[in-house]
Amino acid sequence: MSDIVIDRAAAPRPTPKPGILDIAPYVPGKAKVEGVENPLKLSANENILGCSPKAREAFAGAMDMLHLYPEGRANILREAIAQKYGLEPERLLFGCGSDEIFQLLNQTFLEPGDNIVQGEYGFGAYAIGARACQAEVRMAPEPNYRIDVDEMLKLVDARTRLIFIANPANPTGTWISGEEVRRLHAGLPPSVVLVLDGAYAEFARDPAYEDGAAMVREFENVVMTRTFSKLHGLAALRVGWAYMPPEMASAVDRIRLPFNVNIPAQLAAVAALGDDEFQQRSLALIEQWRPWLTQQLGGLGLEPVPSAANFVLVGFPKTPGKTAREAEAFLAARGLIVRGVGGYGLPDHLRVTIGLEEHNRAVVEALADFMQA
Ligand code: PMP
Repeated sequence: MSDIVIDRAAAPRPTPKPGILDIAPYVPGKAKVEGVENPLKLSANENILGCSPKAREAFAGAMDMLHLYPEGRANILREAIAQKYGLEPERLLFGCGSDEIFQLLNQTFLEPGDNIVQGEYGFGAYAIGARACQAEVRMAPEPNYRIDVDEMLKLVDARTRLIFIANPANPTGTWISGEEVRRLHAGLPPSVVLVLDGAYAEFARDPAYEDGAAMVREFENVVMTRTFSKLHGLAALRVGWAYMPPEMASAVDRIRLPFNVNIPAQLAAVAALGDDEFQQRSLALIEQWRPWLTQQLGGLGLEPVPSAANFVLVGFPKTPGKTAREAEAFLAARGLIVRGVGGYGLPDHLRVTIGLEEHNRAVVEALADFMQA
């Protein structure tokens, strides 16, 4: 060994495997504006009411446990969710946000050369995880910004392993009925996993909406994912969960990192789940202001997309001076941060998280000025 001389300058450097450097890094909603102190962040679909006071208390109560490893299977949270929603504990899986669950599903099912199918405006995390497994990401057209079952089915082939839909979807806010989800499922080979991402499920109140829990029990290839980041306002703590067939849960659980949901997060999530008053207040705020914001934006000559989530996607003209990009900058200068969604293939839209009354009014006022300018 000692005789071998390595030419360090010429030696190859560590190289990421093929495909890694083709992945566009996830771009989160902005949180700062240069020169504006304390801007209002309406760019990440967070809960404008914060979180349940009970969750804060539980989080603070975890202070004396920081030296301990969490209980790996998140059993207290598992029991709480099973009880609240009437689900079987062994079918549940917990993640560091639902983001981690998508990653685990991709890792469990994808080999290089396999593919996933999602909508063209599908949430970014599915594709990142799939590409990391050297799988192909197929994007089905979404006419009218909505998942189209037939377009999705057209892309399914023998190498398709997973199909992802967020329902309601981000960044569009649109949803499809339980009947349509079932038609999508009926068109899939039983070997394809249908992932129903319910990050915004609680905000969808139409009786034709189905969150997918019943489908998970009925079929062996359906997964429903949920999160504590939106309704419960615990985005910082990163708690997501999934409901899936027990065999699948047992497989995915093998590659989960042993302590992926930390103790303060588990305790706060349990407390949040028990705070119906906070949940109702959060839902009522969205129910009240979502139609108002949609109607007002439409009244300004913009094109809001009807939403079933806690945000509204709105389309802008292409006319110079009136574009989405210019509107984003105009709002930012007034301390209002909304989400540009060019990265989702929607360069003419902005996504606005629903805020308190004064926030929603401020956004509408600013956009009225922008459109008149
Ligand atoms: N799914 C969708 C559609 C989302 O918009 C988000 C968050 N932006 C997530 C999943 C991830 O949520 P979390 O990882 O916070 O649970």
